[in-house]
Amino acid sequence: MIGGMQRRTPAVLERPLATTIAGSLPKPGWLAETERLWPSWRLDGAVLDEAKRDAVRLAVLEQDLAGIDVVTDGEQTRRHFVHGFLEGLEGIDRTRLVRRGIRADRYEADCPSIVGPIGRPHSVHADEVAFARTLTPRGLKVTLPGPMTIVDTLHDAYYRDRRTAAFAFADVIRAEIADLAAAGVDVVQIDEPAFNVYFDELEAWGIEALDRCVSGAGCATAVHVCYGYGIEANVTWKRQLGLTWDQYEIVLPMLARSTVDQIAIELAGSRVPPDVLRHCGDKHVAVGAIDVADDRVESADEVLATLEIAARYIPVRLLSATTNCGMAPMRRDVASAKLGALVRGAHRARERLA
Ligand code: ZN
Repeated sequence: MIGGMQRRTPAVLERPLATTIAGSLPKPGWLAETERLWPSWRLDGAVLDEAKRDAVRLAVLEQDLAGIDVVTDGEQTRRHFVHGFLEGLEGIDRTRLVRRGIRADRYEADCPSIVGPIGRPHSVHADEVAFARTLTPRGLKVTLPGPMTIVDTLHDAYYRDRRTAAFAFADVIRAEIADLAAAGVDVVQIDEPAFNVYFDELEAWGIEALDRCVSGAGCATAVHVCYGYGIEANVTWKRQLGLTWDQYEIVLPMLARSTVDQIAIELAGSRVPPDVLRHCGDKHVAVGAIDVADDRVESADEVLATLEIAARYIPVRLLSATTNCGMAPMRRDVASAKLGALVRGAHRARERLA
């Protein structure tokens, strides 16, 4: 807000208790290895390109049939939620892999190296967004990794300073958002799981970097901060967090001060104390009502119960229902059933609360 001017509510966020997903859906077995976070493609060349488009058609159709209000392309065209975007940038050597600890050494991974100034020769995802736009009249969302999560997923042999590197990425993300908005996307969601780990950096420069990404965006913007996919390293980490996960107690007040339109967080089946939601200020909030770390499919009543808890702290007009995190590493049939549960639960919540 500048000079007291009120920012207009993005239309796609206006429906109370609208449904969406964190971003990814499992990939079909004919496209990529299944139940993997960073799978290999099964095909290559023009056949791979065609198969990706078919997978996007299915992902959008599946959400459409389930009744999801703001759909994504299921991230069917990227192998990984961070590296998919980085593959389109200059300044990164993907053959120079360096093993490093990630998310404060929660797990180790072989990470590509920053070897020069970060650049974006052309839009990374605009063609994919333009294609997805032709498939549905529903709200369309696309996810991008955030600057802090990116620098925490690379080896930096060039900037050698996380803040400097993060702002280099924030600038290319801002340019990418402009292209995606022009291609017809309604919401761009910045994924920042690292915000739940590095509180000092979040305070020092994380929010400023997030604001740099979304400044002047020609579409609605969201930030997603979670406890990660339902993979073993995260499940082990969560066991060490104790009975109460109070990370959001620190993170949410800072996100409330950012310029992003919507905050997307997890709540279902987690040990997040619901009263942390009181810190969301006047933001739209997408509350995770589907647990992605458990194959058990929630009932509509369980989804309703999660949303009713959230509604104690957040005005219903600002509330959306989402999944806790991406569903990429899950079984396809489980993910599909969870979409249905989310929509049925949100429908009941709308009857009860709206
Ligand atoms: Zn997540």
